[in-house]
Amino acid sequence: MIQTEPQIEPQTAPQAVPQAAAQKTPLLGMTPEELKGVAAEVGMPAYAAKQMAQWLYQKGVASIDEMTNLSKPARERLSERYEIGRMAPLAEQHSKDGTAKYLFPTREGGRVETVFIPDDDRGTICVSCQVGCKMACRFCATGQQGFQGQLSTADILNQIYSLPERDRLTNIVFMGQGEPMDNLDAVLRTTQLLMADYGWAWSPRRITVSTVGLRKGLKRFLDESPCHLAISLHNPFPEERAAIIPAERSYSLTEMLDLLRQYDWTGQRRLSFEYTVFGGLNDSNRHARELVRLLQGLECRVNMIRWHRIAPLPASPMGGDGASGRQEETQVPPRGDLEGGLSFHEANETRMAAFRDYLTHRGIRCTIRASRGQDIDAACGLLNTKTPRSAQRDARPFENPSRGEGSIYFTR
Ligand code: SF4
Repeated sequence: MIQTEPQIEPQTAPQAVPQAAAQKTPLLGMTPEELKGVAAEVGMPAYAAKQMAQWLYQKGVASIDEMTNLSKPARERLSERYEIGRMAPLAEQHSKDGTAKYLFPTREGGRVETVFIPDDDRGTICVSCQVGCKMACRFCATGQQGFQGQLSTADILNQIYSLPERDRLTNIVFMGQGEPMDNLDAVLRTTQLLMADYGWAWSPRRITVSTVGLRKGLKRFLDESPCHLAISLHNPFPEERAAIIPAERSYSLTEMLDLLRQYDWTGQRRLSFEYTVFGGLNDSNRHARELVRLLQGLECRVNMIRWHRIAPLPASPMGGDGASGRQEETQVPPRGDLEGGLSFHEANETRMAAFRDYLTHRGIRCTIRASRGQDIDAACGLLNTKTPRSAQRDARPFENPSRGEGSIYFTR
């Protein structure tokens, strides 16, 4: 059952910041109820919680000092233990097509990439929810990076609130680094804060969460979130899909489709399938026929995406290649099992158009997505923060950045 009113689970504890014990607790990510507790703790009246929520989420302040309807002594007491939780990007890179990519720090010392995609009157932010990813999809640069940690709600919100183009945002997609269903508490809390009246009061129609499909997370998302859902499908045949998306072996597309058919997709919540096209691998008539068969009768759309070649990556500066103990949680096979001699090729435009037309003529809405930000590795599947930390520290700081053509600050 979809909840129309955001229901936010209380945080079990203030978000931990082990790497910097001196760091204060971020207010970003707290509900008015939790802010009431903060207000009581520092001797402010309960109504100050609502004021703080408005400063945090509607006005988007970057410092407690900007909360000017709180008394100065109250702000000082608040600042002793708390901070807003905003962190500016460490570096940025701009594509010739207007797409921008930002490198954001996380509270636990990680780095994630966030992409802003302008398109006429639309402005879309593609946010990350994990540092790296456990899913090890063969075609994805983040998958090559391995998993280095979860993002907190404050980390995810920071990408949105500290985005230089924040005022131009019309859409948010969880399609950056990481698997949202593998960090679902933080993802749900983020979307609920964005949709809440005291937050941005955003419609769920402006928020899309993407997944390769994790059994437990997907069911919970479907029951608790009214936001759009995008499934990374990429191949309709189980064995072939498993060869590029190891998570298929834990939760098959067939099972996933059975679950998806139990929900209503004819209302405002939209279901889409992402189909990255690899030339000669998943663009044949056989694949198109099977895709039509699988999706028959399901209210959905298919987004075809051009695959982009990724460069081999250096050894991880953060330790390990993603085969950490935490992979056991989602039972994704180690990457060594995946070396099946697959080689990826970029798709042929004519072939892609024929594939799209085949689906369209059989009643499945299908579009070929324009590729954005490829020259700065911001296109689908290209995000990676496996950059040595020293290099990231040396990247040009955010303050007063030049926006000149070709202004590339990343040192990847
Ligand atoms: S495609 Fe998504 S789920 Fe797969 S490795 Fe990349 S970020 Fe993770």
